[in-house]
Amino acid sequence: MRAAIGLGSNLGDRRAHIEQALAALESMPGVSVEAVSTLIETEPVGGPPQGPYLNAAALLSCELDPHGLLAVLQGLERGAGREPGPRWGPRPLDLDVLLLDGGERVVRDDELEVPHPRLSGRRFVLEPLAEIAPHWKVTAGGRTVEELCENCRARL
Ligand code: ADP
Ligand code: MG
Repeated sequence: MRAAIGLGSNLGDRRAHIEQALAALESMPGVSVEAVSTLIETEPVGGPPQGPYLNAAALLSCELDPHGLLAVLQGLERGAGREPGPRWGPRPLDLDVLLLDGGERVVRDDELEVPHPRLSGRRFVLEPLAEIAPHWKVTAGGRTVEELCENCRARL
């Protein structure tokens, strides 16, 4: 399976948290990191008042199923010291499954929703993602990451 993931951090050494997560993924058997976007600094969206984030996106190739990948990402979040807190609150590491298999693979249950439900409106997700997966599809109607990213820029 190929997966596009989002990485974010706004607590502690933000860059180190993101780089360590990528290194940990690369070192796992059956997982390889195929591409990594540039890191961008972004203002928090929603949640309580909190500091700015660093955000990035990466493309993985992995021999996991979608829930297996989510479990791996959640283990890395805990490893970075993430504790349960308010939704959209500050965190040392946030790892989200954004899209799977070119956007063709859809998952929707209590634990996992892919395409990520808040992907289309979030510039801090779309911009890094557009660097590494511009032609992946975000909606069933076939809108691509690149198209949504253009939209999102036009609105600002
Ligand atoms: P956000 O990433 O929107 O800021 P959280 O990281 O706090 O919110 O949300 C984590 C919860 O979201 C987890 O309990 C997880 O089961 C659920 N979830 C649903 N879909 C996804 C997805 N595509 N990627 C990551 N987590 C997801
Ligand atoms: Mg998350």
